[in-house]
Amino acid sequence: MSHTSVVGDSAKAVVDTGLLSNRILGSATTRKTVHKFGGSSLGTVQSLETVLSIIDQRVNDDDLIVVSANGKTTDKLVEIIGLVTQCQDTEDEAFTHLLLLIQAEHKALIQQLLDGDIECQQSLVESLNADIRQIQQWYLQQSLLENRNDLLAFGELWSSRLLTAVLNQRGRRTVAIDTRECFVLSCPVKTTLNRQRSADLLLGILESKRLHVLTGFIAVDEQGVTQTLGRNGSDYSATLAAELIDANDVCLWTDVDGIYSADPRIVPSAKKLQRIEASVARELGRLGNPVLHAKTLSPLKEKNIHLHINNTFYPQQVGSEVGQFGEIARQEVSITHSNQLIGFQSKRFNGKLLEQLQQTFSFIDVDETLQQVIISAEQAYELRYHLQELCVDFQTHSMSLLAAVGFAIRDSQWHREFVANIENSPYPTQKISVNEHSLVAFSKSDCQIEWVNKLHNRFTRKHRNIGVIVAGTGNIGETFLANFLSQQQSRQELSQVHLIGVVNSTQAWFDVDGLPADKVVAEFSQHAKPCDINGLVDWLQRHPFDEVILVDITPSETFAQSYQQFFAAGVHLISANKCANTFAQHALQDLQNRANKLDCQWLSNTTVGAALPVNYALKDLCDSGHQIEEISGIFSGTLSWLFSNFDGAKSFSQLIKDALALGLTEPDPRDDLSGLDVQRKLLILARLAGFELNLEDITCHSLVPESLVGLSKQDFLDQSHLLDTDFNNQLLAAQQNDACLRYVAKLAYVDGNLTARVGIEALDNKHAFASLNPCDNIFLIKTNWYQENPLIIQGPGAGREVTAAGLHSDLVHLCRQLNSKHQDVDIKGINS
Ligand code: ASP
Ligand code: MG
Repeated sequence: MSHTSVVGDSAKAVVDTGLLSNRILGSATTRKTVHKFGGSSLGTVQSLETVLSIIDQRVNDDDLIVVSANGKTTDKLVEIIGLVTQCQDTEDEAFTHLLLLIQAEHKALIQQLLDGDIECQQSLVESLNADIRQIQQWYLQQSLLENRNDLLAFGELWSSRLLTAVLNQRGRRTVAIDTRECFVLSCPVKTTLNRQRSADLLLGILESKRLHVLTGFIAVDEQGVTQTLGRNGSDYSATLAAELIDANDVCLWTDVDGIYSADPRIVPSAKKLQRIEASVARELGRLGNPVLHAKTLSPLKEKNIHLHINNTFYPQQVGSEVGQFGEIARQEVSITHSNQLIGFQSKRFNGKLLEQLQQTFSFIDVDETLQQVIISAEQAYELRYHLQELCVDFQTHSMSLLAAVGFAIRDSQWHREFVANIENSPYPTQKISVNEHSLVAFSKSDCQIEWVNKLHNRFTRKHRNIGVIVAGTGNIGETFLANFLSQQQSRQELSQVHLIGVVNSTQAWFDVDGLPADKVVAEFSQHAKPCDINGLVDWLQRHPFDEVILVDITPSETFAQSYQQFFAAGVHLISANKCANTFAQHALQDLQNRANKLDCQWLSNTTVGAALPVNYALKDLCDSGHQIEEISGIFSGTLSWLFSNFDGAKSFSQLIKDALALGLTEPDPRDDLSGLDVQRKLLILARLAGFELNLEDITCHSLVPESLVGLSKQDFLDQSHLLDTDFNNQLLAAQQNDACLRYVAKLAYVDGNLTARVGIEALDNKHAFASLNPCDNIFLIKTNWYQENPLIIQGPGAGREVTAAGLHSDLVHLCRQLNSKHQDVDIKGINS
């Protein structure tokens, strides 16, 4: 898949990154990405095959790959260390069992993935066996604990060797890098990298025209002793590598879909946060988000490197992107909670000691007044040990937190709302801590699932970011856009609605941070890039909004033919374009079924009568049990004007020319005179009333005689006087009977018989259709309950202002529906 037409560059990595942010993309040759594959992506032959295909499709030679240990290898190595530390009787047995298991698992991966390449298999298995012997030796010499970091390092080492061998075997020239040759830590406790030295070493190792697979998780200190970057440290390795090679992006390939507005395993309405401002992500990491580790994000800061979280098993899906974004992305709020915290209290927790502790530990909260620090349960063990060493007396208690996180949330309206909600909830709060990007309530009791759901619901219910794309930049499109801003400011339903794209038949201007609606028409040609319908569909498949609405203000049949694809991309439609509504009955039915199935809304109330509420009225009558017996009226503003003015003073052909000059007709007046437009409108209303019929079931009397159909527009105008005799005769005949001429649409349903026609009629001067303002439309609806005195809707039914107003009405209606839409996410193993 390529987005050439939209984002201008077809480098492989564009697919991952080009859309959620608007950063200027480098050219294919300068743009670099570090791809990191986590243990679960590398655990089985099958998942490794998936990884190989991702590498094949998305990884350029200039990119780097960072790998974790295969599957749960690190867990097992940690378990070995645990065994040795505990010194139990069964230790020997357990040790041998674990080690053989690790060996067997790796051997199996080697043999299956390198099937057919015996030589390569043998060499990898030999290295593996040598490493296993080394571990046994340490064990026998009782030096395993001393060498614990080297032991742990084997996980990543085996993983990078294997992936490198497989890539080479499949024709991709690849080099494995043991990061202990280049990642030098200046402070191993805080895992701070000596950047200059590490960069020099790494850049010295990288070979051109080769792909490189780096071990995650491991490094050395200044003395060359192996160090680890902490559990799950490979993410950090990847971001460090990105900083060293000046990459633009880091892609973490994991087994989750991204970051959610709350833990989707317990909050079913949680939504994926597609764009997360870096400072907010750091705050989420600090509060214990399992995907975003605080450390991981630190190297990205200075160079504005963006981080992508993608699911290895659904590579086409849009994941989450962390970086710097505009206003829209910054409005997202998420709710996070944890029951895995430990509070430490001590009389000695004051200025100096606290300061010192903060150098080494990352606390979730530090409170001098309460003389308390809060830390994740994972890190509590080390803190306990450290305090004991310092002979500090302390008490511990388990704690939980419930927090709202969002950009500058402290200074937003959410602050007061959060406090009020927490105070009124049964969550027994010990304290609320207020930070720039988070509001955190702490408690000594566990936080219950219902409270997380309640708070999430409060904070996200009305917060659905909706993107609008306008297709068609003609008169109506321009007017619609001109009114966009004031509508957005005055209608509460539109407060989260953003104009993000404008397209015409050949070009598009997209901006996920929002387009300036008031300037978009004037600046369109300056910013728009070539884009066809395929480009648009591609774009629609990967956008960062909760919902996208496409407003079709084109007259294009081809565009209407693409509605299927728009729905497939989950997009909602508002159409002024009549084409799709007048497709053959079965095709329209298919389209509507499809939209329903995909939960896509489709409004098209402006296709008849512009903003006049005729579609609504008709639908409401049908829904409430009326039986429709007649729908009739004057549905064309142009024809309404022509016949209102045709009183014999001017010839009909002259009136056509006048209407053209006044801009009241289509560019070619025959498009009005043919009656096709009226026929289509009657079809749309008939179908709305539940009748199944096609265009050809409506008899249409065209006002253009056969002889004038094939002519050029100018020839037609020159010869239009040929119409006059016939029209004059009809007018005279009508006038003799106190009647006038009107172009009328009429559907009648009598005794189970349906008839429908559009054409010229002589109507009594007292008829409801006889005295209209010259451009007005009129709609008459007769039902079993509206008989002698039918329902009449009358008013301006065409024109740029009223049509644009009708489109805005559809937009408000649609957004109201979308705002209250309940959204469930699919959670693997729970509901899918
Ligand atoms: N293999 C290491 C661990 O499991 C590092 C990582 O996976 O990121 O902790
Ligand atoms: Mg891991």
